This record gives sequence, structure tokens and C-alpha cells, in this order.
Amino acid sequence: MPPLALANRVTCVTPSITLAMTARAKAMKADGLPVCSFSAGEPDFDTPDHIRAAAKTALDQGKTRYGPAAGEPALRQAIAHKLQNDNALCYGPENVIVTNGGKHSLYGLMMALIEPGDEVIIPAPYWLSYPEMVKLAGGTPVIVPTTAEQNYRIIPEQLRQAITPKTKLFILNTPSNPTGMVYSPAEIAALAAVVVEADIWVVSDEIYEKILYDGATHLSIGAVSPEAFERTIISNGFAKGYSMTGWRVGYLAGPAELIKAVATIQGHSTSNVCTFAQYGAIAALEGPQDCIAIMGRAFAERRDAIIKRCRAINGLSCGEPEGAFYLYIDISSLGLPSLDFCNQLLDEKYVAAIPGIAFGAEGTLRISYATDMDTILEGMDRLDAFVADRLG
Ligand code: GLU
Repeated sequence: MPPLALANRVTCVTPSITLAMTARAKAMKADGLPVCSFSAGEPDFDTPDHIRAAAKTALDQGKTRYGPAAGEPALRQAIAHKLQNDNALCYGPENVIVTNGGKHSLYGLMMALIEPGDEVIIPAPYWLSYPEMVKLAGGTPVIVPTTAEQNYRIIPEQLRQAITPKTKLFILNTPSNPTGMVYSPAEIAALAAVVVEADIWVVSDEIYEKILYDGATHLSIGAVSPEAFERTIISNGFAKGYSMTGWRVGYLAGPAELIKAVATIQGHSTSNVCTFAQYGAIAALEGPQDCIAIMGRAFAERRDAIIKRCRAINGLSCGEPEGAFYLYIDISSLGLPSLDFCNQLLDEKYVAAIPGIAFGAEGTLRISYATDMDTILEGMDRLDAFVADRLG
């Protein structure tokens, strides 16, 4: 066997802690341990019936062949309509590529846009794959820390200060994974002004746009002005809003030339997204939308319960997420590194959570409440006991 000299691009990348933690929790569950999993952000609902039915029909109709690398024309069209109607973004099908989940849309973007030496601005806490994807493309992630006091939102001045002549892209994620915060329209407009002034690209990860609480609204940065629109790229998908995580259908929208470049990369890497799954996605966009409100109400109930439980635990504190399905908890008073905290919590109490260090912010952890109420209440009791043991 020749020496296994792995490529530098992979040796500088960290494996996904969310996926690793989730796999560990699943393995423990399979061993019969009573695990409460708050790890992966994965809705526990079945994919709505009409979406599953559409994919089954497509399968029966023989939609089982290769399709265009950029996606089924009908789905690209449906996504373009959605972006026009929901987000006031003036895209046509040529501005849209269907990708293997939202994650792969961002990966394709990095591969098409980022070159060695390019800087990409990422506010922390961030979804853990952003910096790794930038590194895989040879770029340099520029991390801008935010604090609980600023509700984990990057402010325009911080963005302005992070911009250098090498800055190519700014990654904006609202509603946010892992903090659940949502930028207000005024905050989005202020960030858009900086993007336009500096003439950089912004990718807006809007995968949680449908999951909002307490009247929070989602504004796409591309809808702020024609100048912002020109510099905006949208990443989104069906996983979170329609409970379709395993389907792997996402999309990227932006200038046609960029989309064409991503399609070329996709044509040489994954080809098209599973053909019949794309027909399920068409049904998701064109069918009844009440499933979103139904799941949203369940998430809201769980959110309220988990905030209440967390605030009752001496030593922990948390904000009030306005979107997504994550509670971001400050554990700094325990003085334990977040990875140790989460490993010990899983080993001792069989509760799986994601350490803040995975999101570039020590002293915190993320709990996904996209799980049933019994698990939430039981898991929070165990978290309470774990913290009480540590504080004595
Ligand atoms: N995006 C989800 C999460 O943050 C799924 C896991 C992943 O893709 O990293 O939990």
C-alpha cells in the first residue's frame, strides 16, 4: 500500500461535530440506553402526506432517470416563483439551481466563487460547516464574534471593520442556527448598506425562514434594494420548513452566470438531485402550506416549555429565540469547556447537546427542540440534575 498522504484541503478541515454527536447518541440509543437527543436540528414530524404522495407518484411514473444537473425545470420554475412571491426577489429559473440539500448549495457556491486568498466574513456563533466549506475552497474564514448582549447579531460597524480588500463574501444566516435569533428588517437594511458600499457578495442562508415566533418577520437582504439584490445569493432548502431532512433537496439562487458555474461543478460531482425527490419538493411549494403553521405551533409550544425549564436551572441562562428550533444556552458559570460539558452530559445523563465550541463560541451549548415534549421535559430534568451535581 502506498503512503496515505491525504490532501491538505481535508487535513485542515474539522469533522462535523453535529453529525458526530448525533451519531454517538443514535449508537447509544441502539444499545438500549435511554438517550434524550437534542443534537441534530431535525424536525421529528413526518414529511407531510401530499409531499410524500407526489414523490411516490413520480416514482410510479418513471421519474427515475438522470435529469438536468441544475434540477428539474418545473422545480427551478417553482422555486423562482416562491422567491418572487415570498421574498420579493426577482429571479427566473435560470437564477436557480437545485442542490443536494441546503448544505450542498453553500458548498457549490464556495467552490464556484472562492479562491485561495479570498476572505469570507462569518459572524460567530455560526453554523459549523461555514468555515470548513470556505477552507475546502481554499479561502480564509474571517470570524467576527458577537455576544449575548448584542443578541448574537453582527452590527454594521463590526462588518465594516472586518472588510478588507480581500473580502469576497459575507455569510448571513437569519433565523440563525445555532442561536435562534432573527435580524429585524431595519438591521438587515443596515447590513445591506455596508455590503453595497463595500461592493462585496453576501450569501443569505434562509433555511429557517418559515420557523418564526412572536410575530418576528423574515426579510431577505436581497429585497432591501436593487443594489443589494445584485450582490445577494440565496441558499435555502426544504429540510427544516417541510420536515424533509433526508430528502436532500435544497437550492441556490443568484446571478445566472454564477448558477451556471455551480451547475458545471455539480455536473462533475453529484449530477442531479434524486429525480423523484424533486417532485416532492414541487408539491411542497405548490401544495397547501398549512403544514408549516401546524409544525410551527408545535415548535412554539416546545420553545416556551424549554425556555421556562432552562431559566429555572440555577447556573444556566438563555435568550428568547425568535426563529429556528434551537435554544442557545450560556454555561459559562460552570467553568467547564463546552465539549467536556456535552461529553459528560451524554455519558452520565444520556442527554445529547452540541457544544458551543462547534459554533465558534465557548461557554455555550445548543439544544435542538425539534423533538417531542416528553423528551424535552425529561432531558431538561436531567440537564438540571447534571448542572446541580457540578455546582454542588
Ligand atoms: N443543520 C443541522 C444542524 O445544525 C443538521 C446537521 C448538520 O447538517 O450539520 O443540526
